[in-house]
Amino acid sequence: MRVAVIGSGYVGLVAATCFAEGGNDVVCVDIDKAKIDGLKNGIVPIYEPGLEEMVERNAKAGRLSFTTDLAEGVKPAEVVFIAVGTPEGENGDADLQYVLAAARDIGKVIERYTVVVDKSTVPVGTADLVRKEIAAVTDVEFDVVSNPEFLKEGAAIDDFMSPDRVVIGAETEKAREIMGELYAPFCRKNDRIIFMDTRSAELTKYAANAMLATRISFMNEMARLCERVGADVEMVRQGIGSDSRIGLSFLFAGASFGGSCFPKDIKALYGTARENGLDFELLRAVNSVNAEQKRILLQKALRHYGTNLEGKLFGVWGLAFKPKTDDMREAPSITLIEGLLGKGARVVAHDPVAHESARKIFGDRIAYADTPYGAVEGVDGLFLVTEWNEFRRPDFDRMQSLMKQAVVFDGRNVFNPKKMRERGFKYFGIGRGKDQ
Ligand code: NAD
Repeated sequence: MRVAVIGSGYVGLVAATCFAEGGNDVVCVDIDKAKIDGLKNGIVPIYEPGLEEMVERNAKAGRLSFTTDLAEGVKPAEVVFIAVGTPEGENGDADLQYVLAAARDIGKVIERYTVVVDKSTVPVGTADLVRKEIAAVTDVEFDVVSNPEFLKEGAAIDDFMSPDRVVIGAETEKAREIMGELYAPFCRKNDRIIFMDTRSAELTKYAANAMLATRISFMNEMARLCERVGADVEMVRQGIGSDSRIGLSFLFAGASFGGSCFPKDIKALYGTARENGLDFELLRAVNSVNAEQKRILLQKALRHYGTNLEGKLFGVWGLAFKPKTDDMREAPSITLIEGLLGKGARVVAHDPVAHESARKIFGDRIAYADTPYGAVEGVDGLFLVTEWNEFRRPDFDRMQSLMKQAVVFDGRNVFNPKKMRERGFKYFGIGRGKDQ
């Protein structure tokens, strides 16, 4: 099948590459010329495990190409995906300007029946807006489909190639058939395609993210209670997660959730509810618990060191909002580091892949260490913010010999509090009993 994907970011590039891997002819379109020039030369602008090799393989085979010329990609395509950003707008609602601009541009160039697919996360009713936008500039027949994306950064290729489910909101049989055919190679083991109407599909994506974020905020609030009553949230997590009605996924307490999706999607869903006369109280709470949780590590540090951190040096392990990505959008490390700098401290950080993205935010205001141990040399304390695997089993003796003060703030509950204290560390976790 001939496919065009508008927007070559985390979602667009992964989707395009996986569709090419599935044997389709795919053109990636982006307005960012530097990105497209790089991709043409094999430079993948984001870190995503396995992506670079897959891009290279499919580009070489002639199934995957890159352009800034939307018409070049769209004209021959049977299916055109819109995978541009939908950032948070002024009042928290999703900003649809990029989606609607792409829709208009698609409408101007299509020459035959085309399925236009909203892959970006967009509020209920956007398929109707996209349809109107296109219809205003063409007489050609087309369908608009909602096909939200559920991939997780850091595991995006696996998620796309073997999805838990593919949600397709379509209003015509013709569009359903084409989408079913396109996704069939990814659902060979069993049929994971769930067809529905466009509005339900649009809402499904927000509902999924809101449910996941709710679980995290619930556990973070539970962690606060654990600290007050002297219980261990890790024990509570295992105790409740083993109940098959609850399950173990997404139950980790920690230094808040971040990323490009959860924070903005919760606000956008809240906005949708509000516009429709519903005050979605639970979402407000999920958001405010998370905002408070972003400050948890700084609060623990200020309680331990006092409010003036002048002359202190802190190490930070992990900058990206989660492991296996270089994405810094809404990363908890930003709130922590800005807080530490604001209190007069200096910071040295290590992340396996996110230094370049972090530099765009912090510049030279912090130092970047090439290794985890470089980020503990002479420090008054270490913050573990992102649970990369390489941070799980460090050489504790080496750490201790390098640190000025052996104090660890474990924002992901990676270490065992008892063992850390036996090793001679002053240890602070999230919800691991009363802070000692
Ligand atoms: P991104 O910012 O990484 O990429 C968006 C790309 O679109 C950019 O390269 C930008 O230059 C390009 N673009 C903008 N306007 C354009 C236009 N008119 N024509 C061509 N290209 C254009 O964003 P992302 O993280 O890939 O997210 C895209 C959408 O997918 C969002 O709605 C997001 O909520 C959703 N989503 C993201 C994830 C994720 O993990 N990142 C997962 C599921 C869904």
